[in-house]
Amino acid sequence: MKATAPAERPTAAKKAAPAKGAAPAQKTAPAQKTAPAQKTAPAKKAAPARKTAVKKAAVKQAAGKKAVAGAAVAEKAAAAKPWKNESHAALVRRARRIDRELAEVYPYAHPELDFENPFQLLIATVLSAQTTDLRVNQTTPTLFAKYPTPEDLAAANPEEVEEILRPCGFFRAKTKSAIGLSKALTEQFGGEVPGRLEDLVTLPGVGRKTAFVVLGNAFGRPGITVDTHFQRLVRRWQWTEETDPVKIEAAVGELFPRSDWTDLSHHVIWHGRRICHARKPACGACPIAPLCPAYGEGETDPEKAKKLLKYEKGGYPGQRLKPPQAYLDAGGKPAPPLGPGDGPVNPG
Ligand code: SF4
Repeated sequence: MKATAPAERPTAAKKAAPAKGAAPAQKTAPAQKTAPAQKTAPAKKAAPARKTAVKKAAVKQAAGKKAVAGAAVAEKAAAAKPWKNESHAALVRRARRIDRELAEVYPYAHPELDFENPFQLLIATVLSAQTTDLRVNQTTPTLFAKYPTPEDLAAANPEEVEEILRPCGFFRAKTKSAIGLSKALTEQFGGEVPGRLEDLVTLPGVGRKTAFVVLGNAFGRPGITVDTHFQRLVRRWQWTEETDPVKIEAAVGELFPRSDWTDLSHHVIWHGRRICHARKPACGACPIAPLCPAYGEGETDPEKAKKLLKYEKGGYPGQRLKPPQAYLDAGGKPAPPLGPGDGPVNPG
C-alpha cells in the first residue's frame, strides 16, 4: 500500500514551499496534473501510461527533497517565531492560508458519518460520542433499515435498539438518547428535523456541536464544529487561547467568512485525524509545518513522520461505508462493514 504513499509526500513538500512565499501555482501543479491524466484522454491511454510512471517517480524524488526543505523552512519559521506578537490581520492571513493549504490536501473532505437525510445524521452524530465514526457507520445501516423515521424509532422496543447499538458502546444510554430524541422530533417538530440552531439545541442530547454538524452538512447552513480535534489544532496554531468550545467557535468564526465555516471544520478535523494527532503529530510530513507555531511538538524527521500518517492515500480506508464520489475519485477507500466479533450485525 505504500505505493500510494508518494501522494502524501508531494503534498507535504508542496505545502512546505509556500512558506517562503513561493508561487502557489507551482504547488498544486503536480497533483492536479496526475489526477486528470488518469481520468481524461482515453485516446492517448497507452502512451501516457509510461509517461505517468516516469512523472510519478520524478515527483516522488522531488518530494523527498522538498520534504526535507519543508522541515528546514518550518524550523527556521519556528526559530523566528513570526506568530509571536502577531497582529490580528496577520493572524487572519495565516489562518486563511492554513485553511487553503488544507483544502488542497483534502479536497474531498466531508462529514465522516454515513447519512441519507437530516434525521440519520442527527442520530448518527449523537451515537458518535465516545466512539469512532467508523463504528457508528457500521452500526447505523441496521438501525435505519429497521427504524427509518423518527416515529419508528420513537415507538421502538428499547431492548431491540440496545442490541443494535451494542457495538457503539454505552449502548443503553445511547438507546435512551436516540429514542428520546426521536420522541421529541415526533412530538415537537412533526417528525422533521428542524433546520434552525435555536430549535435543534432544544432537543434532548443535542448541543451546539451536534447542531452545527447537522446544519452544516444536512441543511447547507454554515457552522463551525468544535470537536476534540478542532480544539487541539486551533490551540496548536494559536488561532485562539480560549478553551471553552463556544468561545473557540466565536473566536475562530471571526477569522473566516461564514461561507467557509463548514468546510473549514472538515479540513481541521481531517488534519487532526490524519496528520496532527493528539499524541504524535507528524510534523515532519505536515503540509502546513511552516505556518504552525507548534511545529516540533511531534516527529520532525520526514521519514519517521511519514510512518505516523493515518492517511487514506497511504492505503487506509476512510470512515464511511458509503463515501462521497469525490473521495473515491481521489483514491479513497470505503470502510469495511461490521465484521464478525465486532458485535451483532443483524440482531432482532
Ligand atoms: S503540530 Fe506538527 S503536525 Fe500539527 S499542524 Fe503543527 S506542524 Fe503540523
